[in-house]
Amino acid sequence: MISIRNVSKWYGDFQVLTDCTTEVRKGEVVVVCGPSGSGKSTLIKCVNALEPFQQGDIEVDGTSLAAPKTDLPKLRARVGMVFQHFELFPHLTVTENLTLAQIKVLGRGKAEATEKGLALLDRVGLAAHAHKHPGQLSGGQQQRVAIARALAMDPVVMLFDEPTSALDPEMVNEVLDVMVQLAQEGMTMMCVTHEMGFARKVADRVIFMDRGNIVEDCATEAFFGDIAARCERARQFLAKIL
Ligand code: ADP
Ligand code: MG
Repeated sequence: MISIRNVSKWYGDFQVLTDCTTEVRKGEVVVVCGPSGSGKSTLIKCVNALEPFQQGDIEVDGTSLAAPKTDLPKLRARVGMVFQHFELFPHLTVTENLTLAQIKVLGRGKAEATEKGLALLDRVGLAAHAHKHPGQLSGGQQQRVAIARALAMDPVVMLFDEPTSALDPEMVNEVLDVMVQLAQEGMTMMCVTHEMGFARKVADRVIFMDRGNIVEDCATEAFFGDIAARCERARQFLAKIL
C-alpha cells in the first residue's frame, strides 16, 4: 500500500532523511519510533505529500508521488492523517468538522456526508456530542473526532503522528482503543508513537529511526523479543521507554 524507496530529503543544507526504504502492505500496521528529531514526522508527512523530498520515490496504492503528473490533492484525500494536535476546526461543530471535506473534496451531498460522519462518530463512542464545538470536548474526545473525520474520507491508509502525545494520561487509552479496533478491522496503518503497549499488541512491524535513517525495520516480536540483536541506538531507546 505504501512503498518508500531510497527517499532522501533536505531542509536547506540539513539532511533530514537519508536513503529511507521500507513498505507497508495492505492491512499491515507499522509503528515508527525513535528519538525526538530523528525524522519520524517528516517521513510520515512525505507519505502524505505534505512535504516534498528530493531523492527517491514513494508510492501510495500504486501512485508515485515523485511522478510529475500525479494529482497530489487527490492522493492526499485518500490518505487519512491524524496529528498530535487534533487540528479540528474550532469554529465548526463536530458534525461540520466530520462533513466538510467529504462535501468539499469528495463532492458528497450533505445528507450522505452527515450520515457517514454520524455513523463514524458513533463508532468512536461520541454520538452524543455531534452538535458541540471542539472546545467543549476533552483532548481525548477531540482526537477521536479527528480519527472519525479522517475515516469519513474512506482512506486506503491511515497515518498517525504521535496521536496521544499531547493528551493527559487518563485519555490516552480511549484513543488507543479506537486505533486498536481499527487495526483489528484490517486498516492499513503507519503510526508514529511511543506507546509500546500499542505496538506490541497490534503492530506487525516496528521501524526505528535515528538521525534521519531507518536503522531498524523488523517484525514486532523480534523488535521487543530479541533486544540484544537490535542496534546500539535502538537498545538505548528501548531501555529508556520500556
Ligand atoms: P521527529 O518527528 O522524529 O521528532 P522531525 O521529522 O519533526 O522529527 O524533524 C527531524 C529534523 O528536522 C529535526 O532536526 C527538526 O529540527 C528538523 N526539521 C523539521 N521540520 C523542519 C523545517 N520545516 N525546517 C527545518 N528543519 C526542520
Ligand atoms: Mg515528530
